[in-house]
Amino acid sequence: SSEFSGKHITVAGLGVSGVSAARALAGLGAHVTVVDGGDSPKLRERAAGLEAEGVTVRLGDAATLPAGTGLVVTSPGWRPDSALFAAAAEAGVEVVGDVEIAWRLRALKHGRAATWLAVTGTNGKTTTVRMLASILKAAGLRTAAVGNIGTPIIDVVLGEQEYDVLAVELSSYQLHWAPSLRAHSGAVLNVAPDHLDWHGSLRAYAADKGRIYEGNTVACVYNVADPATERLVMAADVEEGCRAIGFTLGAPGPSMLGVVDGLLVDRAFVENRHQQAQELAEISDIAPEAGPPAPHNIANALAAAALARAYGVPATAVREGLRAFRPEAHRIAHVADVAGVAYVDDSKATNPHAAQASLAAYEPVVWIAGGLAKGATFDELVEASAKRLRGVVLIGAERALIREALARHAPDVPVVDLDRTDTGAMAAAVGEAARLARAGDTVLLAPACASMDMFTDYNQRGEVFAEAVRALAAGPGTDQ
Ligand code: ADP
Repeated sequence: SSEFSGKHITVAGLGVSGVSAARALAGLGAHVTVVDGGDSPKLRERAAGLEAEGVTVRLGDAATLPAGTGLVVTSPGWRPDSALFAAAAEAGVEVVGDVEIAWRLRALKHGRAATWLAVTGTNGKTTTVRMLASILKAAGLRTAAVGNIGTPIIDVVLGEQEYDVLAVELSSYQLHWAPSLRAHSGAVLNVAPDHLDWHGSLRAYAADKGRIYEGNTVACVYNVADPATERLVMAADVEEGCRAIGFTLGAPGPSMLGVVDGLLVDRAFVENRHQQAQELAEISDIAPEAGPPAPHNIANALAAAALARAYGVPATAVREGLRAFRPEAHRIAHVADVAGVAYVDDSKATNPHAAQASLAAYEPVVWIAGGLAKGATFDELVEASAKRLRGVVLIGAERALIREALARHAPDVPVVDLDRTDTGAMAAAVGEAARLARAGDTVLLAPACASMDMFTDYNQRGEVFAEAVRALAAGPGTDQ
């Protein structure tokens, strides 16, 4: 039995995470009500399934708190100022997210909890968590990449499979609603403006990310190149003996991991105390089949290595794990070479900070960008990338913001503004990019924007791009 049995719990939202939380909590003997503001045939069908398992579902009202509620469980996408949470605060009822539930249940199923190594950041979370899981696996540990990725974390914690250590990806939303989480070690990869519509301000967003360091026992891993991450370490309340560990693409200082002559080097966790530094791997060990890694993926590898080393993983496993790592789709994926031009799909670059990182890996580059800006600004990105740009092709709803930033900071770069959001626009953009590119250039899809104006998600956007590139490679006259 757990602290949840017999409790009246209200779950916000009938989405994937809400359904998983409702099921799990009902399974633990809680009285669960799921509330959702929508009311469609699809939701009704989902509701019927849950009701068969003893969960109450209330559709069409997302604002009022069911009488007797003792705990509210949030879902991603519900803003912190949602009426339901305001009602809970008014009634003195606690509001938590799925990660908090999983944390409280972590030892229930197997009598002992797996260790949590946690990763957050504006960009690079999924990549880093996958690298970390690959390294832990190479060390022979029972592990999985979980959290804001794959199977809902409550299901992992309550599942049959027992783990030694989990590589946990945490979004700022999840951290916001996980007040008692205390990871073994945590990393903030970077902090750049994103989702400000949800958090209200960059300060609030950063503070939520910084929660990952609270109560860390062994290491708080920060990005030397992003001082905001180090400030979050300084502000955190950690266990005695917990160390601040930096990662850098330059030569590492003491208590850092970094790069020396193409080698990933650890000066924080040396294996022999007479040694000053421990060699971990070569840069070329990072997903060797995918070609030379972009700088931000070297940074991600260092962050993953830092967390693994904090857990005591040997250098050999870091190398082996990085070699076995395979990048996820639509993250700097090389699609094809056509007429000496490389076509790269980084559809997952859904904000300016991500696009800036991927543009930094190519020169000269023809950049395909645009979509939904989510309140972001593009001046810094364009200013930093201007000298690399051979040309730019703009698509999508809010491309004017990028066009204006280009006019301010890169007035000489040719820009093709395709005033289109239809399904054929991506193929047209690839055609325009091919015209702008010269042999030796890279055409990079790194939209710096969300995709929902034109596509179901970034996956579809990347696939449509790849199809257009393959059609281009097949040559004129082929009708696809
Ligand atoms: P997340 O899970 O945080 O969205 P991903 O690993 O899926 O991160 O990467 C998303 C995109 O962010 C990538 O396609 C790439 O453009 C960019 N990116 C990845 N790592 C970094 C990093 N360390 N710094 C900046 N941008 C990055």
